Amino acid sequence: MSEGREASYDRFTCPHCDAELNPGRGPIIQMRGELEAPCFSVTTDVFVSSGLGVYEGLTATGVVLREGAKIEFSCPQCGASFSQSGQDELAQVRMRDSAGRAFLVSFNKRFGKRSTFVIDPDKRQVERQFGDDAASYRADLDKALNFFGS
Ligand SMILES: [Zn+2]
Repeated sequence: MSEGREASYDRFTCPHCDAELNPGRGPIIQMRGELEAPCFSVTTDVFVSSGLGVYEGLTATGVVLREGAKIEFSCPQCGASFSQSGQDELAQVRMRDSAGRAFLVSFNKRFGKRSTFVIDPDKRQVERQFGDDAASYRADLDKALNFFGS
């Protein structure tokens, strides 16, 4: 999956305060994650890979995540939610690739699900998608992009 030894990661930032989520284009994105259970909720640090389409290695400090757990992602700096308007199951951050092009990246909130979308913010179109579950999120995402874009 890597394109050579120089491979550096994209730059992921908070859409609200522009904080770097993977400082120095590092391999790990850090976010805040809130998990709701019937009798309690917990807020913790969540770490995911900066590699698009890499789903191994998601960890949450002090929490054992099980398949289907829903994580409400937010910014570790300003605390703003990464939830996407009209999309209960997707979160969104900003991304800038190594060529300096700006994108939005949407990803699902359920632990164990695999879907990531790279969105052109001007055309409001999905440019690339990753993950075995992407197809099941795609229709709703397209609908939201059309709706909120026009
Ligand atoms: Zn922020």
